[in-house]
Amino acid sequence: MKIVDANTDLCANHSEAYSKVKGAYSLWFAAYGNLTHEDFLKRLVVLPETGDRAREVVRFLIHNPERWK
Ligand SMILES: [Zn+2]
Repeated sequence: MKIVDANTDLCANHSEAYSKVKGAYSLWFAAYGNLTHEDFLKRLVVLPETGDRAREVVRFLIHNPERWK
């Protein structure tokens, strides 16, 4: 069964990763301030500790910035 998040059109696994990426942005924004989504995503995608699913979500958001909600 394919589970799709109505907001993101992502499957359950990637929807979870998407939530984690956005949660990480909140933490980074609090720590660094003045951090754009784009800068955050570009930094996150090169971090070795970023998981495969999160990295896929990050790439998706880099190519589809309008999908950041
Ligand atoms: Zn997926």
